Amino acid sequence: MATAVRTDTDVAFQRCLTPSCGSTYDVGEVRTCCGQCGGLLDVAYDWDRLPVPDSLRSFEDKWSRRNEPLCRSGVWRFHELLPFAPPEKVVTIGEGQTMLSPSDGVARYVGLQPGQLFLEYEGLNPSGSFKDNGMTAAFTHAHTIGARRAACASTGNTSASLALYCGVSKLMQAVIFIGSGKISYGKLSQALDYGALTVQIAGDFDDAMQRVQQVSSQLGIYLVNSVNPFRLEGQKTIMYRVLEGLDWEVPDWVVVPGGNLGNSSSFGKAFLELLELGLIDRVPRLAVINAVGANTLHELFEVRGQRWNGGQVDHQATTGYYAEMDESNNRASTIASAIEINRPVNYQKCLRALDVCHGVVREVTDQQILDAKAQVGASGLGCEPASAASVAGAKLLRAEGVIDPSERVVCVLTGHQLKDPTATVAYHTTDQQEFNRVLGSRGVQRAAFANRAVAVPNDLDKIVQAIQLNS
Ligand SMILES: *Cc1c(COP(=O)(O)O)cnc(C)c1O
Ligand SMILES: [Zn+2]
Repeated sequence: MATAVRTDTDVAFQRCLTPSCGSTYDVGEVRTCCGQCGGLLDVAYDWDRLPVPDSLRSFEDKWSRRNEPLCRSGVWRFHELLPFAPPEKVVTIGEGQTMLSPSDGVARYVGLQPGQLFLEYEGLNPSGSFKDNGMTAAFTHAHTIGARRAACASTGNTSASLALYCGVSKLMQAVIFIGSGKISYGKLSQALDYGALTVQIAGDFDDAMQRVQQVSSQLGIYLVNSVNPFRLEGQKTIMYRVLEGLDWEVPDWVVVPGGNLGNSSSFGKAFLELLELGLIDRVPRLAVINAVGANTLHELFEVRGQRWNGGQVDHQATTGYYAEMDESNNRASTIASAIEINRPVNYQKCLRALDVCHGVVREVTDQQILDAKAQVGASGLGCEPASAASVAGAKLLRAEGVIDPSERVVCVLTGHQLKDPTATVAYHTTDQQEFNRVLGSRGVQRAAFANRAVAVPNDLDKIVQAIQLNS
């Protein structure tokens, strides 16, 4: 693919994350890492030469022009804050029309005062998860440079999203890598239905991730995995919409599940930039929640004390830990398949986000995740298991006293309930065998908030009796 040379007339460019390197690349160059030091890349802007609005409130004007696709999109109505592509190149399918909902039911469960807990419900995206926020940005970049094929490895939602953008726009062919047996039917069905070329590898997510990188560079296919810096630009807008939902006030906490750490990294970048641009005067604290069975970030950050350290990250400590995991054959394992990842590709960027937002990391069990998920469901905004890690994490931090009951907390619900109905049905089932088969091996013992189906014979009197008895 074409390699463009960066000129200083460009207001957007790519820059190495490591400050001591700081190499820059043209915005039109397709790279997954820095050519000098191998570090991750950021999309960076010369803000002084860009028309940045003087207040966030000015974005509200776009609501009155919702018949224009760029104003309707919850990502692109913030175009001025991710100006890496000209408006006429933007590919949008109406992503990011999501909402911030207060939930007193979940507030009570978490232990917060009424009115203080908000759910940012990203399940409302066209493909049913927050991934569309990033996909529209990466896809736009791919389109800008003339790509004809785009690939990703995925625990399911990235592939569903990529397949959808390819299917709707017909601009590219989607090539999707999945591990065997680790993808929910809801997500797999989307990739197949939208017409993506789906390659199932005999291995897990981390294996599929390695292979897709090799194959993409060999065949010159555009890679849309989380290492793609443009995806994170789109995901910044989740936080812009959170601020908008709070009438542009900054919450005290943002709590998000951590898988490949793209979301947490993009949130950190969003707040860092808004601060630099003078559009906010403080940042929220960030809490990233791992599953116990996929807890690399928790281990490295909380247990081993690794830090961003001004960009001087101790990479040996990370590779050392990965070698330990390999030796002990420690494979990621959690019911929350979307965060079942042991080698998070955005680890370094997430350390920066934790630094910017004075963040913390916690790990929660599958039991805690499923109980929290049932509470979210009962509140009316159903989510998939990984999403509920945010609510379970908020509850844990509240119990520890790290979050105060009077603080304002936003939990990001990353994906829709119907993405993974197997876990939901098993949790609520009366069938002990089914419960054990799906959840028992994950260490889930009980379903504290199960809403069991009532079994009755096909007999009118008995059915009426059963309803009166149970209501
Ligand atoms: C991808 C995904 C995650 C993990 O997000 P990262 O940005 O990779 O940390 C969490 N929940 C859902 C539903 C996802 O699809
Ligand atoms: Zn570098």
